[in-house]
Amino acid sequence: MSGGGRGSERAPRPLVSRRSLLAGGGVLLGGSVALGASARMSRERWDVAVVGAGVAGLSAARNLADHGLSVVVLEARDRIGGQLHTDHSFSSVPVELGAGLIHGREAYTWELVDAVGAETVRVRAGAGAGSPLRTPGSARDDEDAASYLRRMGVPEDRWPPVAVDNEPLERWSAVWMREYGIFDWWSAPREDFRVVGGYDTLLPPLSNGLDIRLEHAVRRVRWSGRGVALDVSAPGRGGGGTEVRADRCVLTLPIGVLKSGGVTFDPVLPTGHSDAVRALDRTDALKLVYEFDRAVFPADENLLGWGEGSGFVFWCLSREAPEVVVAWAAGESARELLAMPPGRRFTAGLAALAETLGEGVPEPAARTTHDWSADEFSRGAYLFVPPGAHDAPDALAEPLEGVLYFAGEPTTGENTVDGAYASGYDATDALVAEV
Ligand SMILES: Cc1cc2nc3c(=O)[nH]c(=O)nc-3n(C[C@H](O)[C@H](O)[C@H](O)COP(=O)(O)OP(=O)(O)OC[C@H]3O[C@@H](n4cnc5c(N)ncnc54)[C@H](O)[C@@H]3O)c2cc1C
Repeated sequence: MSGGGRGSERAPRPLVSRRSLLAGGGVLLGGSVALGASARMSRERWDVAVVGAGVAGLSAARNLADHGLSVVVLEARDRIGGQLHTDHSFSSVPVELGAGLIHGREAYTWELVDAVGAETVRVRAGAGAGSPLRTPGSARDDEDAASYLRRMGVPEDRWPPVAVDNEPLERWSAVWMREYGIFDWWSAPREDFRVVGGYDTLLPPLSNGLDIRLEHAVRRVRWSGRGVALDVSAPGRGGGGTEVRADRCVLTLPIGVLKSGGVTFDPVLPTGHSDAVRALDRTDALKLVYEFDRAVFPADENLLGWGEGSGFVFWCLSREAPEVVVAWAAGESARELLAMPPGRRFTAGLAALAETLGEGVPEPAARTTHDWSADEFSRGAYLFVPPGAHDAPDALAEPLEGVLYFAGEPTTGENTVDGAYASGYDATDALVAEV
């Protein structure tokens, strides 16, 4: 499960490698915004083209620009942020249709919170299981997390509740969960935070002053040791196709897009990379958001439905009228909903809310959602690492011929804003070191 005010239990792995942080971001806070600028489109060749303006693409471009390289960011959608998608128009409060939470006080994203002076609120403090799981033996390469925990004799009532938020433990790599401390992550007390004014208010320190081309979908990456030529379709910008050339390219495509073949590579990616893409997977996740004219949510509850088996968890974003309630479903529950026509998904969420409350709920005044699985530029929600895929993120993170670099979720194995932020810096630190 995820985002919004409900307090996600999604398991981020402990923080990855180090990177150079917001080197110039602070200085650029007051800088000009160049989203969709066209003035430099005629430029012959860029030092670096960054594909995707999600958090990883933005932090990659920020780092490169701060190192004095010429950078263009190509983003398929008409907005930046990727899976960080705040809707400011639906209601009186910002609604997070994608990522909603900062997990823990150690997340790198606090740098962005500080940079913009954002107000945050703690939405839930997980008590943790009290003591770490005893998992002394190593996991087998292809072993799933459930089999491993069984083999280690861990009673099922102590298993981390990953499934509520994501895929069942049977679908997770045990090696991955063990190596990255995810089993133990659940045992420790944790805190989650929400950005009151909207998660997207953290983006300007990364995006300000960058040349970001919205509605520029990369369709083909032609690459060699000498550079890249990207075939881009930009229909919304009055043109069909265009070509962008650069000495290097940083790809921050989500795993769903990489798997779908929606972006082709010429020549095709070498086996190590293509195997990694095949091995990794993404989950499904869905938020159904309702606005009610009157109070529906109990005043003394922050979260409802956790562990109750309805397939939903509910939380309340605004207690003042209009009241905004989020119904969250992930993994199998999300897939069941996604198999229904959109209208019936809302009806199912409402019925489950009524059942959880034990009373009828009024017809909502408004409702909204975002279907990540049908979204061409996501093709599913966030990443998970299946059995046998524990090496895939590192394999995918390997630069090719000093020209193609990969960053973002699939290269970290993480599924957090924090991980994406760090990975943009990690990948481009390696690039800058080679220039
Ligand atoms: C429903 C949901 C809830 C979540 N909840 C949380 C949470 O509470 N906390 C948390 O930390 N994380 C959460 N996450 C995960 C988090 O949002 C992601 O891990 C993170 O934002 C990934 O960033 P990224 O830059 O790697 O990828 P993305 O955000 O996916 O960015 C990739 C970018 O590439 C663009 N793109 C795709 N195809 C093309 C193309 N052909 N050409 C050009 N551009 C293209 C996309 O439009 C996108 O902007 C959630 C995600 C979802 C979907």
